Amino acid sequence: MIIVMKNDATRAQAAQAIDWLSQFPVEATPIYGADTIVIGLVGDTTQVDEEMVMMREGVERVMKVSEPYKRANRKFHPDSSLIQVGDAVFGGTEIPVIAGPCSVETEEQILEVAQRVRAAGATLLRGGAFKPRTSPYSFQGLKAEGLIYMNKASQDTGLPIVTEITNISQIELFEQYADMYQVGARNMQNFELLKALGFSSKPVLLKRGFSNTIEELLMSAEYIMSNGNTNIILCERGIRTYETATRNTLDISAVPVLKRLSHLPVVVDPSHAGGIAWLVPALSKAAVAAGADGLIIEVHNDPANALSDGMQSLTPEDFERLMKELSQVATAVGRTITLS
Ligand code: PEP
Ligand code: MN
Repeated sequence: MIIVMKNDATRAQAAQAIDWLSQFPVEATPIYGADTIVIGLVGDTTQVDEEMVMMREGVERVMKVSEPYKRANRKFHPDSSLIQVGDAVFGGTEIPVIAGPCSVETEEQILEVAQRVRAAGATLLRGGAFKPRTSPYSFQGLKAEGLIYMNKASQDTGLPIVTEITNISQIELFEQYADMYQVGARNMQNFELLKALGFSSKPVLLKRGFSNTIEELLMSAEYIMSNGNTNIILCERGIRTYETATRNTLDISAVPVLKRLSHLPVVVDPSHAGGIAWLVPALSKAAVAAGADGLIIEVHNDPANALSDGMQSLTPEDFERLMKELSQVATAVGRTITLS
């Protein structure tokens, strides 16, 4: 259940309503938006009489929520959430672009890519150190060493880092070295990991599983949020369909649908969606035009010899060109992508 307070309602009136609600087995959370105070109720709301709620001072409206996710629900939080990572803000007018290699390979490689993508206008650095590969015989990542190299590249360039966590046991290391956790498609429903990340205060980039519905993605966000961490960025990275011409099918409609259902920012990953470098520019532009709040793009200094995902990686030159085009698309839809 969601209680929307009147525009001129005071925080004291919201507190009185919450006090009154304490007689029921529900948890009432006030959300103070720019214009509206909203009180979200989770728990057993069956005993809460809507008309009695309407009689509390300052209450404008009471809504029953049918969606199983509450904290991620836009009804619960009408204003879009702004999620800050370093100097980058997701969910506002500016569209931050995250770029970097699929995997951290050497200290020199990550530093070179970091410098090149920053020069082109990227505001966050990506790179995997713990790689969840389909084959156990493929490169599995540099693990802790990779995080240390990324951290050095971050210190040299000032770019905050986002990197994938695959297991709860890595949390201590990530708390020390990462600026944002990435939960990969293969771990979107690793509920123990999601619950554990709920106790962190660092933001989480939550990728949609390749066979998961939009509602399942939002329920995974709910897992993290229910333990207190509300700094979630959703990521559409392509889903599995019958089509074989592309690695996955970019579900572009997921962008406006997620933005309508949830207040959380939505980032698009055109690299894993298309799986081929020449597709990345078109998919990136489509994502910005569709309202994405950010992009995460794979860039490698030597794609032909990359240890993972070379086929879909842009060269730094390709990336620089793309950023200029994206900046124009952003302007056309009332957003900005600032080139450095
Ligand atoms: C990645 O970002 O390198 C990755 C493995 O992505 P996904 O989890 O979307 O497959
Ligand atoms: Mn990859």
